[in-house]
Amino acid sequence: MVEAWTELVKTKEGYRKLLDQVMANLPQTLGKIGDRVLVVNPIIVHETKRTIITNFTHIADTLNREPSHLARFILKESGKAGTLEGERLLIQGKITNEELRRFLELYVKEFVKCPVCGGLDTKIIAEKRFRFILCEICGAKSSVRKI
Ligand SMILES: [Zn+2]
Repeated sequence: MVEAWTELVKTKEGYRKLLDQVMANLPQTLGKIGDRVLVVNPIIVHETKRTIITNFTHIADTLNREPSHLARFILKESGKAGTLEGERLLIQGKITNEELRRFLELYVKEFVKCPVCGGLDTKIIAEKRFRFILCEICGAKSSVRKI
């Protein structure tokens, strides 16, 4: 019995690891801008004690956001420390590929997508202490939290 249980756990872990590797090599579709599909393809390197996203500034560029803004969001959501270094984001600790995909989805939902028309052609503007998503498609101005 004990052995069978151990085997099951092993298999499940093996499966998860495999799934994570497969996920890492798949581009992630985050939505559409008109006829254009917004796709990112994070390159993640797992080291023993840290996670490195090697094309991080490129991902932020694709989303038309400051790398520091996207980095703050991911670090806050994951509860981990990290730093931007050139093109890369270095995270202390482990973030799985699946977790990163979820963070990117959440970020787009909250900080890129226009809540009125669903468009992704937006920018974040600051007015006094407040932040807004300004939609370049429908012109809506929607408040967002500061991070
Ligand atoms: Zn809009």
